[in-house]
Amino acid sequence: MKNASNVIQGEKEESSDAEWNIDQFEDRLFEILSDPNGRVSVAKFKSMLAFSGLRDTDPRLKECMTNFENVLQLNQPDHDSKNTDYYGGLSVDKKTFKECIQDNIILISKSLKNDFIIPEWQNFKQEIDKIYRNCRNNTNGNVASYIPQLARYSPDFWGVSVCSVDGQRYSSGDTNVPFSLQSCSKPLTYCMVQSNDDNIERVHKYVGHEPSGRSFNEISLDYQKKPHNPMINSGAIIVSSLLKPELALPDRFDWTTKMLSKMTGGEYLSFNNAVFLSERETADRNFALAYYMRENKCFPEGTKLHEVLDFYFQLCSIEVTCESASVIAATLANGGICPMTGEKVFNSAAVRNTLSLMHSCGMYDYSGEFAFRVGLPAKSGVSGTVLLVVPNIMGICLWSPPLDMWGNSCRGIQFCQELVNVYNFHNYDNLKHTEKKMDPTRLRIDTLSQDVVNILFGAFNGDVSALRRYYLLGLDMNIADYDGRTALHVAAAEGQEQAVRFLLEMCNVNVNTKDRWGFTPLEEAERFEHPEVAKLLISSMKKMEHPETD
Ligand code: GLU
Repeated sequence: MKNASNVIQGEKEESSDAEWNIDQFEDRLFEILSDPNGRVSVAKFKSMLAFSGLRDTDPRLKECMTNFENVLQLNQPDHDSKNTDYYGGLSVDKKTFKECIQDNIILISKSLKNDFIIPEWQNFKQEIDKIYRNCRNNTNGNVASYIPQLARYSPDFWGVSVCSVDGQRYSSGDTNVPFSLQSCSKPLTYCMVQSNDDNIERVHKYVGHEPSGRSFNEISLDYQKKPHNPMINSGAIIVSSLLKPELALPDRFDWTTKMLSKMTGGEYLSFNNAVFLSERETADRNFALAYYMRENKCFPEGTKLHEVLDFYFQLCSIEVTCESASVIAATLANGGICPMTGEKVFNSAAVRNTLSLMHSCGMYDYSGEFAFRVGLPAKSGVSGTVLLVVPNIMGICLWSPPLDMWGNSCRGIQFCQELVNVYNFHNYDNLKHTEKKMDPTRLRIDTLSQDVVNILFGAFNGDVSALRRYYLLGLDMNIADYDGRTALHVAAAEGQEQAVRFLLEMCNVNVNTKDRWGFTPLEEAERFEHPEVAKLLISSMKKMEHPETD
């Protein structure tokens, strides 16, 4: 229980406030969780972490989980240590509890204070699940058949995995079945090439950044005789030639898989040799592209064409699962730092460039339409994968083999569209004033209370233009605070005649509403001696009683 606590210790030395807070937090946490006998149930503690989206296999909780496991070993030596979910009613006293959690206290405190990017993880999970189920009914599309290894996948496979930038995890469906990255490797190798700062500009000497408007494997170059962008085959082959060319091919491959493994935070990553061999066998088009590019002097000097093509096929044949690929997407969402390990894999400029190109060119010939409808960076591959990035919020991997006419996963596309219908994730969704869409980074209660404060404050100040704005945004103008006070109560009590008129005539608010003490807006106007306002309210009440006199 030493090493990570030293880190906290280090922080403690820097600030006695931090020391006080951590100690106090541990005490308070114990008070909240402990039973009348002064003990904390380990299962209950774990379920609180899970509630916020953390898994107990999270590498950032490793020390804490090992500490509890050791306590369990001491107390119940016969238990099955492979069953990590087994805690058999284990509970611990205060001292043991504090010792067990201290190594990972910062993450634990964030989790229990609800301080993650998606504060209401359970609600978010439910929405994701709803969309997942809707898309399951989509039976459109055909599984890729150009190589047998892809053709053999069942069209029924459908998985969705989400990993937030804080490492909150959720998965639904077939999320542990391996599949090859295929074209989803393209943005990753492009990002890797730029992990060396000197290469950020250099790479674009050889490849452009424009959507091609052509098929992903078409034999064509831009007006400068460069492939249009790194997301199509020609561009990705060029990028492969720029990736660690000083290394021998085996070392180059090793280096690349190590980088990928950092992106997955050590989760599933493999290589499918059968896919590789088949890719190489059926690669006439990619060979043609490479020769055409060599003829046009597209490659850096000294490039060994066959070696580069082999490398490109190998990159397409690297396997992931939905689970591990969601961490890859989350690393991109998190500016190049893997959320599950905190390791910096890429510099943020490389990630920004990668996301820009995914946004404009990542979805084959559907890229423009996708950018319009979904407005998020994404890359799809012929295995039925979509890597979807919600920058600064989360990474998502969608996997379902049947493809549409452009080569994108049918269920994957539907999922993306439904996701942005529910949440304000589209790049051009207005973050402040989106009426219908939800912002999962905010607590709903905060949003509601902010609305109440805004409207009541507008009424208090008689600020009709503010009230008009809230009305146009679709806010409920009858909304009341915890005392049952509405904008009309406040405007009436303050004698804000114009505001009262606007609320009655434009917003049609309820004139008879009562606050918790039983006062109506009219009674407020009379109590605070605003006869003009009282007149307005009386006439509105009369109109309500006799609408035909209108
Ligand atoms: N291995 C495929 C190729 O290079 C990748 C296809 C894809 O996912 O777009 O043709």
